[in-house]
Amino acid sequence: MGSVSDLPVVARKLEGKVAVITGGASGIGECTARLFCRHGAKVVIADVQDELGNAVCADLGSAAAFVHCDVTDEDDISKAVDYAVEKFGKLDIMFNNAGITDSKKKSIVEYPKSDLEKVLGVNLVGPFLGTKHAARAMIPAGRGCIISTSSAAALSTGLASHGYTCSKHAVVGLTKSAASELGRFGIRVNCVSPHGVSTPLVTGFLNLTDEEFEGLVASVSNLKGVILKAEDIANAVLYLASDDAKYVSGLNLVVDGGFSLGNPSLQGTFMGVGT
Ligand code: NAD
Repeated sequence: MGSVSDLPVVARKLEGKVAVITGGASGIGECTARLFCRHGAKVVIADVQDELGNAVCADLGSAAAFVHCDVTDEDDISKAVDYAVEKFGKLDIMFNNAGITDSKKKSIVEYPKSDLEKVLGVNLVGPFLGTKHAARAMIPAGRGCIISTSSAAALSTGLASHGYTCSKHAVVGLTKSAASELGRFGIRVNCVSPHGVSTPLVTGFLNLTDEEFEGLVASVSNLKGVILKAEDIANAVLYLASDDAKYVSGLNLVVDGGFSLGNPSLQGTFMGVGT
């Protein structure tokens, strides 16, 4: 894919916008970077995977640029924001998406403090620093849009470790807290909560193929007959980033096919359907 969008100008939802995407070298972030460019945005991919990030940017052409950024490092985040402003003139959209999993699920009795600190460092401190430095750049402009990636693990327990679950709940809190402060500056702050999507994060962690992971998710999903893909999350992020969501702030956009609503087997019992 080159840098020139194949969409007509009227169909481009982010024409002229500038975005920073953390964790944009892979998975949901990469997919969102590609969709944003297709919709006319300029994108800075900020990631620790330099080779992968540079390869994605080379594929996207002049609309994208890579910057090495460890989201746990305030200096790196600050420089990534400044780089976007220097290279493309401004910052309209910050997508705090970089994330990690931690140790396999363990009892809280055995859960190491170091695991908690590591996962909170990337999954919570990262979005906190991204929000802080994006706001610094956006406040003088009187507009902007900040989006973070939370998770279905912010709504249901048992999907991930204690640390990951805490980190993703905290992203929702950070989103609401920042949204209530930054609205007066014309800045919208939202997050997106994906259900299981086959990306290197989960397939590597669980040692499964894409098909095996998608089969696993499908077997426990509420919404049958469709498979959640990274593109579906990118589309949700595109909505939040675009003027289609111009009055949406403080929202956790849950993309889980209704998984977090409750236990479908109980609903079946009450409605006289199912088992
Ligand atoms: P991924 O591993 O494909 O992408 C994550 C990216 O984050 C990678 O490119 C990685 O290099 C980058 N990253 C990790 N640590 C970093 C750091 N310290 N600084 C900068 N970049 C760093 O995984 P993904 O599934 O696309 O994950 C994206 C986000 O989606 C994460 O926040 C994850 O928690 C969240 N999420 C994923 C799922 C899922 O099922 N895949 C579900 C819910 C939420």
